[in-house]
Amino acid sequence: TVGLALALGACGSDSGDSASDGGGSSSESQGKVGVILPDTKSSVRWESADRPALEAAFEEAGVEADIQNAQGDADRMAQIADGMVADGVTVLAIVNLDSDSGAAIQEKAATQGVQTIDYDRLTLGGSANYYVSFDNTKVGELQGQGLADCLGDEDANIIYLNGSPTDNNATLFSEGAHSVLDENSSYTNAGEQAVPDWDNDQAVTIFEQLYTQADGDVQGVYAANDGLGGSAISILEKNGAAGEVPVTGQDATVEGLQNILAGTQCMTVYKSATEEANALADVAIALATGEEAETNGTTEDVDGGREVPSVLLDPVSITADNVQDVIDDGGQTVEDVCAGEF
Ligand code: BGC
Repeated sequence: TVGLALALGACGSDSGDSASDGGGSSSESQGKVGVILPDTKSSVRWESADRPALEAAFEEAGVEADIQNAQGDADRMAQIADGMVADGVTVLAIVNLDSDSGAAIQEKAATQGVQTIDYDRLTLGGSANYYVSFDNTKVGELQGQGLADCLGDEDANIIYLNGSPTDNNATLFSEGAHSVLDENSSYTNAGEQAVPDWDNDQAVTIFEQLYTQADGDVQGVYAANDGLGGSAISILEKNGAAGEVPVTGQDATVEGLQNILAGTQCMTVYKSATEEANALADVAIALATGEEAETNGTTEDVDGGREVPSVLLDPVSITADNVQDVIDDGGQTVEDVCAGEF
């Protein structure tokens, strides 16, 4: 409940819940761009944040875009990709469901002269021309630091609920978090598991097992995103420990922000969908027009043994003190965050 009064300031204010400034410039005939989102269950972000941000970014750029969702099915993603290529897209961006299926899609697209971009998740062993994402190791570091800030230097047993083992980002998040938390000798790893496909229902079962194995002697929870955090919080609630055990998150979802305001979640990480979508649109347009895209670094593809030219954006740590920043940036609306019991 620390910071609750402060946090509720976010709900007491009616300031800026939108951040669009129209514009719509640019020329026609830059080719058609296909974007394939992964699913609807691993995070609400794909449909609630990314899709509208991508639609706005491509519309503003004057580029035709076909945005579809593979619904968690890798075969379906491959079929969508085939359909998009047949339909004449010249640039294809995917959020892979796993690296192998993503690499196959990219390889096939390349044989048909279609250039590809990894959006948010790097396809290991893939052939994407570019990678657009956030600095994912930094995301993990922010999560680790956020949990450490909530725990202080008291002895604490921590349970780690990692993201999908098939998502390279999940590896980077966990590495980043461990790089911070493992350094503090007050903290003990009380159990750690990856959640297949980031599935929130499986996360409930996995967390309950880890919690029981630790005899409930748990003082902190690293959860890789807000959905997994919510799964952990539901079990903490069942055990009367919600609000006492800090839990991390990611994506600044409505659920995550509400849990922060309620005091059951310690922090989340805000990654502006608008920034990521605009970055994707810029890179896609450069590819479509035969120009070189502007990047700010490279990312190592450890399986493919290559450095992928990348645009890596800056994630922001959100606690009870700065929930308002997400709203001010247009990441959520005050109506959504403050709906219901707030
Ligand atoms: C994304 C996260 C998201 C997770 C589950 C990751 O690759 O970076 O923002 O929460 O996938 O969809």
